[in-house]
Amino acid sequence: MKTLAAKILARPAIPFALVGLLLVGTLSVIYYVQRTLSEIEEALPITLSKQERDIRVLVNDMGRLVQDIEFARSDPSDKKFSVILRQTHKVELLLEKIRETYQFSDVLGISAIHAKLNPAIFDIKTWLTNGLYDFEPTSDYTLKLAELRAKNAHQEAEILLLRVGKTAINVLTEQAQRIKAFRNIMIVKLIVLTVMTIGLVLLGFRLQKIVFALKDSEEQIRYRANYDSLTDLPNRPNFVEHLGEAITRGRRSPGKTALMFIDLDRFKTINDTLGHDYGDELIKQVGLRIRDTIRDTDLVARLGGDEFTVLLTDLSDVIHASIIAKDIIAQLSLPFVLHGHEIYTGASIGITVCPEDGEDANTLLKNADMAMYEAKKQGGNTFRFFTSQMTERAKQFLDLDKDLRRAMAQDELLLDFQPIYDLASSELMGAEVLLRWQHPDRGLIMPDEFITVAEETGLIDEIGLWVLHRACAEARPWLQYELHEKFYMSVNVSIRQFKGGFRKKHLAAVFEETGFPSKHLVLEITESLLMDDDVRFRDALNDFRDLGVRLAVDDFGTGYSALSYLREFPVDTLKIDRSFIQDIVESSNDRRLVEAIVVMAHGLDLVVVAEGVETAEQDVLLRGLNCDMVQGYFYGMPVSAAAITDLLESNSLQAGAKKSAKTA
Ligand code: C2E
Ligand code: MG
Ligand code: MG
Repeated sequence: MKTLAAKILARPAIPFALVGLLLVGTLSVIYYVQRTLSEIEEALPITLSKQERDIRVLVNDMGRLVQDIEFARSDPSDKKFSVILRQTHKVELLLEKIRETYQFSDVLGISAIHAKLNPAIFDIKTWLTNGLYDFEPTSDYTLKLAELRAKNAHQEAEILLLRVGKTAINVLTEQAQRIKAFRNIMIVKLIVLTVMTIGLVLLGFRLQKIVFALKDSEEQIRYRANYDSLTDLPNRPNFVEHLGEAITRGRRSPGKTALMFIDLDRFKTINDTLGHDYGDELIKQVGLRIRDTIRDTDLVARLGGDEFTVLLTDLSDVIHASIIAKDIIAQLSLPFVLHGHEIYTGASIGITVCPEDGEDANTLLKNADMAMYEAKKQGGNTFRFFTSQMTERAKQFLDLDKDLRRAMAQDELLLDFQPIYDLASSELMGAEVLLRWQHPDRGLIMPDEFITVAEETGLIDEIGLWVLHRACAEARPWLQYELHEKFYMSVNVSIRQFKGGFRKKHLAAVFEETGFPSKHLVLEITESLLMDDDVRFRDALNDFRDLGVRLAVDDFGTGYSALSYLREFPVDTLKIDRSFIQDIVESSNDRRLVEAIVVMAHGLDLVVVAEGVETAEQDVLLRGLNCDMVQGYFYGMPVSAAAITDLLESNSLQAGAKKSAKTA
């Protein structure tokens, strides 16, 4: 059966022919059944007996006519004559009806009666209307001939009736035989059709199985060609293809692409001493660990042996590759448990960046391999970029990160507060919190030197919360003074913090723990946050606003400066970037720009703060341009929270003095 099916399937014409045959077979059965059924219906006993009845009625009525004529002859009167005429007419109508009814289907031969009776009735009617030869219609001669004619016809009709009865029996017997034959033929035909259908269905199943099996093996072949069977990771050709695509994509997008070449340390020794089973198991676990360390969007592949590669795309700075390399090395330095044994290995990583270290996949791979050997030469368990400058940069970057973490732990970070004034009233309206790092060896380090690193390593999440908490705590003493309703302390929040999950609950906890009122806090965010499509950021900002916190856009003018989004976000304040204020006296362009920003901001009901005001000329110009508030060395350097308390103290002393002078 199996081989037969295979043979049949090998010739595609056979299934097609089968389907064709099945179709023709089904159509012929339908036609045959339809025709036979209508024939059988015509000869059903019930139809036959109705036909017999019709003809019997006719024969009886004809008999009546014969009797009527006989009566009329024995007792001639007008009345009797008219009875004959009526009966003649009745028979004539009946004949007509029978002719019409049976002219097309006449199994019993009823139409013959028409041929027998019609001429007789025609003659009788003519004679009784017009008379015969010279005899009157009512004359006995005419009636006698009519009687003879009617009797003759009646006799013949009776003979026919007898014949019809016999015919009916014959027809029924014949039908019974036909039905039997029909049933047998139907059984045979249906068996043939069923066998053919089952055959087709079986063929269909087999075909489906074969198609699936083909697809399966096709997928397997494709998988084997593209994936490593031990780790299920992409293999070299697959990786090279992805790398090529990433290089092409990288040319069009601002994100950077980097390639890591990873080689395990001491793998050969493990393989030689413990055997291939252990080696294979180690390779598998290494693949899993690398995959768990990188981002979902990055790709890890096994080139062969103990060599792995990682493709990093969309990096805002290639230096980030060093963080990932460090993480991978740390992960692979942890012990592996192989068949119950604890094994230690490590990894050497070479990194190339695109396009600096090569513009095609093979060059990048070759150079990453060379960089990996450089890492091996240094004793392994480390990484090297292809260029020594990048390695140096990465080293500084990672050292700074390490140092910053230590600084956090040892409480080396501190805060300055730079006063912000209302231009018109010269009143102290607030202060911006600025982070500093008191380094034990390097002295005071400004935020520009370390915030970026903290943002890139994610440490900013922790630092940012620390700043908020510490600032609110340090500013608590300010609350003892009569602060202006709009007085605020502004804290810088980086977009990385939002990405790291900085939300309402964190702020609420800070207010709860420090007792600082939310209405005196402003968060300084950057334009890039507002431009981000992520709706979670918008929701977070709205939540902050619900808490009573105000929002300021920092460094306005340096980013996208698209105005439409300002309306969509709960922003209160614009801080014009220092770079515009710097040249405001010399450059009429900058002046016009600042003027436009102020007009636009006022149109949107926003408060404008000018940052980095350093001279009296700048101050005069900004007053002329209707700027609301100012911040800069001209008014005050960043100072400690206690120094701001002193400013508030003298402010309130002055206000008190003014008040008492007025009352005096
Ligand atoms: P920023 O938010 O635009 O802060 C204003 C910067 O301008 C501060 O520099 C301030 O000292 C400086 N500045 C103020 N007035 C003048 C002036 O008249 N002339 C000049 N030349 N500079 C003036 P700083 O403290 O070095 O801060 C630099 C940047 O570091 C800040 O820019 C802010 O983006 C970031 N930053 C500071 N503290 C934090 C923080 O706690 N968290 C976050 N995420 N970023 C911070
Ligand atoms: Mg700021
Ligand atoms: Mg700024």
